[in-house]
Amino acid sequence: MKSEKSVTAVPLGHARGLNRRRGYKYRADGGQVRCVPGCHLCCLETEMPLTLEDVVRISKLGYDPAEFAEFRDGALRLRNVGGRCYFLDPGGKCRIYEHRPDGCRAYPVVVDARTGECVLDNLCPAVDTIDEAEFREKCSIAKRVVSNMIRE
Ligand code: SF4
Repeated sequence: MKSEKSVTAVPLGHARGLNRRRGYKYRADGGQVRCVPGCHLCCLETEMPLTLEDVVRISKLGYDPAEFAEFRDGALRLRNVGGRCYFLDPGGKCRIYEHRPDGCRAYPVVVDARTGECVLDNLCPAVDTIDEAEFREKCSIAKRVVSNMIRE
């Protein structure tokens, strides 16, 4: 699931259809984004960029950056193997979930490279479970990743 051309420049990874609605659907009762059980759409053909902090944190687990990262489209990003993130196990779980890159934590909030604004990736099936407070929190993470991503 490659990004459409207009969003390939989006630094935060795997956005394939940006939510450009002005009024996001937030949960009335608050709460956090809830992944649909078994879903790992955001970990397929990932374009997730990495920061130095991400690389150091993951390397400390014993993983070699030469294996899990590569320069692509002008930035250091998670490597895909067979169309799946290097860290996605056969059962669809993240092998490093507790230590995953900050961009993965920010998802489904991504930064629109054209405007610099945070938007929701509406291809995430759980996108409507995010509330306003979490949107703001994730937006701040997403913008930090964009500032600190390792460029070629
Ligand atoms: S690091 Fe984990 S959460 Fe991030 S894209 Fe890879 S498998 Fe998914």
